[in-house]
Amino acid sequence: MTKGRHVCALFAVLIVICLAARQGAADGPERPNVVIIFTDDQGYGDVGVYGARGFETPHLDQMAAEGVRFTEFYAASPVCTPSRAALLTGSYPIRVGLPNVLGPGSDIGMSADELTLAEMLKAEGYATAIYGKWHLGHHPEFLPTRHGFDEFHGIPYSNDMWPYHPTADHFPDLPLFEGEEVVNAAVQADDQKQFTKEFTERAVAFIEAHRDEPFFVYLAHPMPHVPLYVSEAFEGVSELGLYGDVIMEIDWSVGQILETLRDLELDEQTLVLFASDNGPWLVYGDHAGSSGPLREGKHTTWDGGTRVPFIAWYPGQIPAGAVCREPAMTIDLMPTIAGLTGGALPEHPIDGKDIWPLLRGDDEARTPQEAYFFYHGQGNRVLQAVRSGHWKLHFPHGYHTVVEPGTDGQPGEATQGETPLALFDLKNDLAQQTNLASVYPAVVERLEALADEARVELGDARLDMEGAGVRPPGRIDGE
Ligand code: MG
Repeated sequence: MTKGRHVCALFAVLIVICLAARQGAADGPERPNVVIIFTDDQGYGDVGVYGARGFETPHLDQMAAEGVRFTEFYAASPVCTPSRAALLTGSYPIRVGLPNVLGPGSDIGMSADELTLAEMLKAEGYATAIYGKWHLGHHPEFLPTRHGFDEFHGIPYSNDMWPYHPTADHFPDLPLFEGEEVVNAAVQADDQKQFTKEFTERAVAFIEAHRDEPFFVYLAHPMPHVPLYVSEAFEGVSELGLYGDVIMEIDWSVGQILETLRDLELDEQTLVLFASDNGPWLVYGDHAGSSGPLREGKHTTWDGGTRVPFIAWYPGQIPAGAVCREPAMTIDLMPTIAGLTGGALPEHPIDGKDIWPLLRGDDEARTPQEAYFFYHGQGNRVLQAVRSGHWKLHFPHGYHTVVEPGTDGQPGEATQGETPLALFDLKNDLAQQTNLASVYPAVVERLEALADEARVELGDARLDMEGAGVRPPGRIDGE
């Protein structure tokens, strides 16, 4: 064969490969972009399609109409830090050593031993960014840029951890970061008013800049966590007042993201997920959201504390207007995204499982998890509840409950409630009012056995977060 023929043959092979690749793309995106919009303390009842009253969420409702909405989706913790740790590692917070909320005085943060969702996608060539709230350690070695994010613009922990919140005047100034640099050493109220708008605009700009390569955007809104702020355009837009205004600005943010993806013709190549990190902080009364029909809210393992709105949108892949009534949890998102993107999960154990068949709307699909476990870092035993199927068993534990709700940004009065061992049928008793433990002892026994397995695998002792160095319990990989 002559040299010319060799070159011709090589070109022919290249053309065939290129055509095959284009065909593959036309059949469906093989590596979707991923956008996660994660709000803070938004209740189960705080989206139009979940029954919100006093404000409207047209963009979230539209997202649900074009995608799938879950009715039984859980955050892995009723408070911020552990919930975020679970989302980004696919593990229960107790496994990764972050069972409690961090603050400006914390010495610890996300361990370098963990593989985050951002690191997994970055290894696959994704451009990665987080805008908004991190809350997994504020010292340099714990920042998002050390955990797989190319860009970070936002705050290191909650927006109430600043000197101007009614219950938090002992806190230092709240910094705003760009990458690892503090670009505003003392966030003021006027800055917080811009948060939702600013983080949204940055996310939109990032998507536009990376339109030609795979990207992962984690838009972690600090709102509607107290203290509540909106930009001028959203002041007074809802009937409900400031809380409704804040949610309507978040809804605008969702609309901006989806519109950008449509304009760039990336809508059929992008998986967008929307969820909240935990339930509403009810002691703030009119500055808190609603858990709808569910019991209690933030800081509790009752369903109002952990069950959150969850909408997944991926036109052409997820059927429009689907509703999934199977239980699922934020820990399941990382394995699901790994399945869709080809991302490699860590070799060490994680707790989540791929729920793509649920997202895709398969009628026969069932949750891949035999049980979900609800940990909360108070008392000597932190495994407070277990759910399997439609049954949820609470072990005896204390919990925050509101006596007198607050107003205008001031917290009201709360007290400590106590529950005995209690079994609930969530299919018929959404509000967890009727304890059926004595009626169904075999169910109690089955769920107790599942909890015992979790105690062996993950532990059940109070973890001394601040007293034991950088990573107190270390990774827990069973005994
Ligand atoms: Mg929260």
